[in-house]
This record gives sequence, C-alpha cells and structure tokens, in this order.
Amino acid sequence: MEKKMSASVSARRTTNDYYRALHSHAGEVEARYRTLTPRSCALFDQAKSAFPGGYTRDSLVREPYAPFLAEGAGSTLTDADGRRVVDLWFNATSLPLGHAHPDMVSAVERQVTRGTAFFGPTEHELRLAALLKERLPSAERVRFANSGSEAVMMAIRFARAFRNRPVIVKFEGSYHGSYDDVSWSVSPSVEALGDGDASSQVADSAGLLDCQGRVALLPFNDVGALEAFVEAHHARLAAILVEPIANRIGLILPDRTFLSAARALCDRYDIVLLFDEVIAFRAGFHGAQGEIGITPDLTTLGKIIGGGFPVGAIVGRAEILELSRPSLNGRVSHAGTFNANPITAVAGLATMQALTPKVFAGMAELGERVRRGLREIVADLPLRVTGIASLFKVTAVGHEIRNYRDAAAADKEWETIASLALYNEGFLLTPRLSGCVSAVTSGEEALSFLEAFRRVVAW
Ligand code: PMP
Repeated sequence: MEKKMSASVSARRTTNDYYRALHSHAGEVEARYRTLTPRSCALFDQAKSAFPGGYTRDSLVREPYAPFLAEGAGSTLTDADGRRVVDLWFNATSLPLGHAHPDMVSAVERQVTRGTAFFGPTEHELRLAALLKERLPSAERVRFANSGSEAVMMAIRFARAFRNRPVIVKFEGSYHGSYDDVSWSVSPSVEALGDGDASSQVADSAGLLDCQGRVALLPFNDVGALEAFVEAHHARLAAILVEPIANRIGLILPDRTFLSAARALCDRYDIVLLFDEVIAFRAGFHGAQGEIGITPDLTTLGKIIGGGFPVGAIVGRAEILELSRPSLNGRVSHAGTFNANPITAVAGLATMQALTPKVFAGMAELGERVRRGLREIVADLPLRVTGIASLFKVTAVGHEIRNYRDAAAADKEWETIASLALYNEGFLLTPRLSGCVSAVTSGEEALSFLEAFRRVVAW
C-alpha cells in the first residue's frame, strides 16, 4: 500500500513537473505574442470602453487579449497585424469549406443584390429544409432560428410542451449555448460539483434566477446513474439533452451503450431524446446520429448549416414540431425576424451541397491523420488526444477522459500557454486546444501544425 502510494505521488510529481516546464515559459510566450500583435493590443484597449472587459463573446476570451482578425481566405486568417495564420477552429467549427468559399460567396452575392431579408417566406428556406430532411431521416419537420442557443431554447420549449413536463436532463460539463436553463454545471470546479447528486447544480452565470430545478444534472457516460434517475423521476421529465460528440467534456464520444440506454428510457417513458448536433453535425453526411446509428426525437443544429452566417434549427419528429402549427390551440410559439433569412439560407445551401460524402470522408481522414500525429507526439507525456472525424483536442491530463470530472482535472494553464505559443507559431486553436480541419485544410498545413506542436510540448 505504502509502495503504491509513493509510486502514485512520484508519478504526480513527474506530471506536474512536466506541466510546470511550460508554465515557466509563460512570460516568454506572452512577450513574443505581444511583439507579434501590437495592433490587436491597441484595439483591445479600445474595445474595453465598448465591451465589458473588452469582449462581446465569452468564447474568445484569452490572456493577455485575443488576436483581432481582419480577413479569412480558405484555410488561413490574416490578423489585424497583417500576419497570416492557419485557422484550426474555423469560427468554432462553423466553416467546413473554410473562409470565403467561392460557392458560398457567389450564392450570397447573387442574393444580396436581390434583398437580404423579407417579411415573407422564400424558396431558399424550403430548399435548405429539404436538404436537411434528406440527410437526417429523423428530421420530419424543421424550424429555423438564428443561433444554436436559440435552437436549444426552442427545442426545450417543444419538449416541455410535448407531455407537459418541466424537467430537462443535462449532463455535467456539457455546453448547449447561453440559454438560462442550460447554463448549469457547464464548467464548474469538481469541488463545487460535489458528489454527483442530480440536485447539485452549479450556476454558470449570475442572473439565473428562479430556474433552479428546471434541469437535472447527471454524470456523462454513466448508464446506472441515468437509469436510476429516470426510473425515479420520469413523470416530471420532458427531455434528455445530450451532445453525441461531447465537445466541452473533452471532445469525447459517449459510449454507444449510454446513448442506447437513453433511447430506451425515452421510449419507455415518453421522454424526448434531444441530440444537440450544433457541432456534432460535422461528424458526417448524416450527422453524428448517422455515424452512431441512434435516432433522436429532436435535434438542434447550427454552425455549418448556415454556411458562415448566423443560424440555428430545430428538427425532428412531426408529432412534436407540429405543436407549433398555427391552427392548434395552446400551440408552441416561435418567432424571429431573421429566421431562415435568404442570405443564411443560400449560404447554408451552397455549403451543405458542397459537403458531399466524399468531402466529409476527406475531412475525417485528415482529422484522423492529425489525431494520429498528435498521439505519437504525446505518447509518453501527460496529455490526451481526443476527437472524431474533422475534430481534435489535446487535454493536459494523464488519464483517460470519460466524463466531465476526468476532463476538469486538466492543467488549463498549460493548455492556455500552449495555445498562445501555437498562435505565435502561426496556428489558431481555442485556448483549450480544441481544433478542427476543414475541406480546404491541406496535408502540408496539418504536418506543419504537428511540427509546431512537437516544438511546444518539448519546452
Ligand atoms: N450547442 C452546442 C453543442 C454548441 O457547441 C454551441 C456553440 N458552440 C451551442 C449550442 C450554441 O450555439 P450558438 O453559439 O450558435 O448560440
């Protein structure tokens, strides 16, 4: 026992020493970043008097400031200092064809001169809906919105209306946008989470008044906990909300048994199985649900279906979405000035049409090459590489990630410094080292990213 303990203590010390080696270079990395990005620094100073803390979008926050971006072309970005970098996040995975793809640009150019928004439906929205229905057999009906957050908010309203039940099951560490009812236990400290009781919810924001209890938090990938909770509370459960590629939980896939247990419980108790595929729809021609082979009742979409313009969609079973048909008494209401506006619709259509099965396969193949290369580099290091298809992530932990608690143990400071060092090397990823390739990312760009990553981890 004593021997075992001292072995694990020394393993931890080695791991911490490894992370500390990069921590000790933080000043150097930041100094280099400041030298490379003086205009971003000046713009950030201006931004502080316009935006609280200098930001109008939480996900961009990074120390000492985010790089301001001026242009995107294909797989690259030009920052405000005129430096070209390889984009490996593509506006949070939303640009599968890269920046300013000619198909999308000509579709938008054509439409922009014919009107950008009308108080009336257009044929374009019908065509985009038809494409979604074709690719997602579960999409019997479609409602468009303007963001993934809105789609999640509306999907929850539909799910609650379906059987008049209030509670949504959500998983610890999952992110589903900025709606109040999903802003619980998104990125809490493990201490704050407590022992995993469904009632231990940690607010992800101030101002979430009177919505505690409308969501139940369960550990991800834990079939036993899910079954026990649903058996006990099904009479009040409206939906199980799950991301079939759990991005913020470390970009991991749920076990198939976990999702099939969720499907079976939803069938047994008439609960809505709600897949959030705002990111996961990137996983393949038929989305993550097609890859996994499990069919949800409702799906929320966003990002890639707008071709680079603001978008969201709720798609799913006719029986549920028809609750918004105008002739129904006590219907689900859903409005939105820019829902399905023609610019988003034509951009989304042009993008989705270019995303053939072959293009998806090419992105997945390059994504796999990146993950394989990263895994080789980190083989003996306390770093984990996760992801699927075009998506990849490096997490600074030395153990397997199966749920939020595993991911939350990461040395986030290490990740933040590594991400800034990679920007210095010419690659944009998130501060949490999430990345993706697009259809225009070249094999050479992937290789040079791997070389840069090799240099950073060797510090
Ligand atoms: N759901 C998931 C899984 C997401 O990743 C996001 C955003 N990254 C959202 C919902 C919210 O989408 P939006 O930012 O368009 O509101």
